[in-house]
Amino acid sequence: VQAEPVRVAATIFPLADVVRQIGGAGLEVTTVLPPGASPHAFEPSPLHVRELARANLVVTIGGGLDDWLDRLLAIGERVPARLVVTRALPVVNGDPHVWLDPLLVRDRIVPAVRDALTAAVPGSAARFGEGASRFGAELGALNEEIAARVLHFRRREFIATHAAWRYFARRYVLREIGVLEESPGKEPAGAALATLVAAGRAAGVRALLADPQTSRRFALVLAAELGARVVMVDPLGGAGIPGRDSYVALMRWNLSAFAEALE
Ligand SMILES: [Zn+2]
Repeated sequence: VQAEPVRVAATIFPLADVVRQIGGAGLEVTTVLPPGASPHAFEPSPLHVRELARANLVVTIGGGLDDWLDRLLAIGERVPARLVVTRALPVVNGDPHVWLDPLLVRDRIVPAVRDALTAAVPGSAARFGEGASRFGAELGALNEEIAARVLHFRRREFIATHAAWRYFARRYVLREIGVLEESPGKEPAGAALATLVAAGRAAGVRALLADPQTSRRFALVLAAELGARVVMVDPLGGAGIPGRDSYVALMRWNLSAFAEALE
């Protein structure tokens, strides 16, 4: 008799990939958020409720990023086991974008996912332990690669469309001068925009880091005001997006974008 596959649902792609890296084959891992959608403004459908009801484990960020999942889980008949990763680490100023620091992933998120998988799949401690160590080593190498490249950046200050890069900036000693959307989907008023432009000009910002989830139109307006280019960054990636289809590939892609903006 073939065993039922163990099903894990993660709200965002980077988390789904962390689960896959640790769990390997034998896990059926799905991402709830479709590629290109913003987790801050997501409206789930009844289809998602059914998918979640089949999961053995649900992995979420928490901290306000994917609270829509709470509503989904409340509708479903079965409540699956759940891991909220922001409960496993120190959240700074309520900012949920913790996965964009590879060492927070290695030191906090990977052990939390390993333990949750071990609890969900009896007799699997050795397998998930090995997966976690192997992936942890890969994240350590990724961190060294980013740190080495950042040393060559000529500038440290950046402006982004979306306030996603504060953990990344803290890890690699970069400085966010400001963001276009302080809260997601909220366009800045004239005075706030003027302050941001003045700060960007004073810091000599030459590129605006824009992500696929925020308004292209506002990014172009701000970039024109700053006399800056628009460089794309992506906090989410996704399966089937070339160069952004694993956590490590996504972070390398973002490293290249930061280099393009700051080197
Ligand atoms: Zn975000």
